[in-house]
Amino acid sequence: MQLGSCHCGQIAYEVDGDVSQVLECNCSHCSRKGYLLWFVPRAALRITSSTEAMSTYTFNKHVISHHFCSNCGCAPFGFGVGAEGKETAAVNVRCLQDVDLTALTRIPYDGRNT
Ligand SMILES: [Zn+2]
Repeated sequence: MQLGSCHCGQIAYEVDGDVSQVLECNCSHCSRKGYLLWFVPRAALRITSSTEAMSTYTFNKHVISHHFCSNCGCAPFGFGVGAEGKETAAVNVRCLQDVDLTALTRIPYDGRNT
């Protein structure tokens, strides 16, 4: 299990599983935020804090809710519906504790041209 939080700690969460590879998307949104995304079933992510500070950004087709902290601005995860209609969480591994970013395999995703 992985523990994560925004910078100020008002949003805290835990995720089941181990990260080995992440998706690095070059779209206008992901590249600005620097997301390194790990996709898990929505049920594998549990928010352990209050959600009072949690704000939500949507764009494009509004299929993904990109959550971020209204206090510190960090964007720890987003929720959406993936292939086959499954509820999915996209975890920004940069907000997880104890993840060695240099040890992850980064899969480039050409979101800019998709
Ligand atoms: Zn915060």
